[in-house]
Amino acid sequence: MMTRFTRRGLLGSALALPALGAVAQGRGPVIGVSWSNFQEERWKTDEAAIQAAIRAAGGSYLSADAQSNPGKQLTDIESLLARGAKALIVLAQDAAAVRPGVQKAINEGVPVVGYDRLIEMPEVFYLTFDNVEVGRMMARSVLAAKPEGNYAFIKGSSSDPNADFLFRGSMEILKPHIDAGRIRNVGEAYTDGWLPANAQRNMEQMLTRNNNRIDAVVAANDGTAGGAIAALAAQGLAGSVPVSGQDADRAALNRIAAGTQTVTIWKDARELGRNAAEIALRLAGGARLAEVPGATTWNEGPQRARMTARFLAPVPVTRDNLGLVIEAGWAPRAAVCQGI
Ligand code: BGC
Repeated sequence: MMTRFTRRGLLGSALALPALGAVAQGRGPVIGVSWSNFQEERWKTDEAAIQAAIRAAGGSYLSADAQSNPGKQLTDIESLLARGAKALIVLAQDAAAVRPGVQKAINEGVPVVGYDRLIEMPEVFYLTFDNVEVGRMMARSVLAAKPEGNYAFIKGSSSDPNADFLFRGSMEILKPHIDAGRIRNVGEAYTDGWLPANAQRNMEQMLTRNNNRIDAVVAANDGTAGGAIAALAAQGLAGSVPVSGQDADRAALNRIAAGTQTVTIWKDARELGRNAAEIALRLAGGARLAEVPGATTWNEGPQRARMTARFLAPVPVTRDNLGLVIEAGWAPRAAVCQGI
């Protein structure tokens, strides 16, 4: 099966390649992972799970981090291919900009797993959590804490389709309450690059525009929640304004324990990572996308492309069920309860 993949002749050439993650030499296939923004806490957990599963199968792990730069992600993908990756796992920084890199891999017979974020090309296997449901879960928790008032929306990065899936899910829950006049949308902004500092600036501007009259914040992940909460804290509002997030980052779990964040959505990245590695190995061995266990078809992306996909289930975590992540070995009690 492996022979259907072409060998590229760039290894050992004088080509200057950017620094890549460590290679663990094994007898199995080389799996290349292209990260988008490795500074986010969760991706380190995803990486450990991917590495462990590749190692268990005797394969080798190669990686590169685009550092939030879509152009760098393209050269990263080329480098991973040139270094002999037999399958790629790609966390896209920019869903549109990444396409030529992914197309190059496909053209060379190297299968691609679109990791966590949609790359809307039918040749790509899409592995993620149910992001619309994540958005619903965030809104449900914030709504339970604040059934009326002025809502602000700190959205994710506009180049990441997850930002709109999340917002869509949140709006499904909130729209009837907006229509009934109980809730007002007093501001929404994308967060460039998902960076907490940008979320903080957006939140500051929304607070200023609304004379601090913001009653609830739907923030798209824990990083942006942290930025929003910093802005609220500067106005003495942290703890009295419910805020959502996702990822179950340690800092967020600690804020939930302390009462400044209302909910995070736990997506067990250990599971996503393990599944991605297993799927990549299977595809590298010649399996077709539809042969991946648990694969379904899905066409709810912006272009309605028919994708082969697999979705894992997210879990909301509030102060009431914080013990869940501790018992699951996701975060140690000491980190969750630090300073409390
Ligand atoms: C992921 C989130 C993550 C965010 C920023 C999204 O695509 O689904 O889990 O927090 O990117 O890295």
